[in-house]
Amino acid sequence: MDFYITQINSNEVLKYIGYKGGDIDNKIEYDIKILSDEVIKISKPKVCFKVFSFDSNFVFEGTNFIPNGKDVKEMLKECSKAVIMAATIGNDIENIIRRYEITDMYKALILDSCASAAVENLCDNFQNWLEEELKGMFLTDRFSPGYGDMPFKQQKQICSILNTQKSIGVSLSQSGIMIPRKSVTAVIGISNKPQNKRFRGCEYCSMFKNCSFRKEGSYCGKF
Ligand code: SF4
Repeated sequence: MDFYITQINSNEVLKYIGYKGGDIDNKIEYDIKILSDEVIKISKPKVCFKVFSFDSNFVFEGTNFIPNGKDVKEMLKECSKAVIMAATIGNDIENIIRRYEITDMYKALILDSCASAAVENLCDNFQNWLEEELKGMFLTDRFSPGYGDMPFKQQKQICSILNTQKSIGVSLSQSGIMIPRKSVTAVIGISNKPQNKRFRGCEYCSMFKNCSFRKEGSYCGKF
């Protein structure tokens, strides 16, 4: 099954480049649009995944994988199965970011941020497809190693279970960083009950660019 990057959330890009609210330079908005298109064109998106049952101790069937941390277990508490997934947009974009880092740091920063937002869109598209496929079942949020209290080192287990090196060309450096860098691993629960989704952040709020709370350096209290 092929998965694609369909759009890049410019709010997310602005967040990654450090935008805190207030007026946005037209040039930055224009550059984000142009470089987002470049990322979509250059990327080679790939996704792999497996579905597992798990027992009351959260041991994934046929593996010794237990997602560690209170938060991820809380997320899975109404689930009988879960998906382990990995996604990447490939190495070509990485090479172009490295090149811009030598000649134009401004472009390198925006391109890097667009690439991060692109992986999120790829994961969202996979998740939407999966929910369609599992008619009548409901997915939880995605939970990645290193998020909340789930140990970052569990990334290694996920890559090994999915054999990401072979299936999508993702390996881990000695320090556990994924190569290509713009890659994600995650656990997603499958339940027969609708699941509450966590608030994803201001960059997914329609008020992002005009929010008076953000302009004053505060928040509305949604999270
Ligand atoms: S209204 Fe709340 S969620 Fe939306 S941008 Fe403002 S602070 Fe963020």
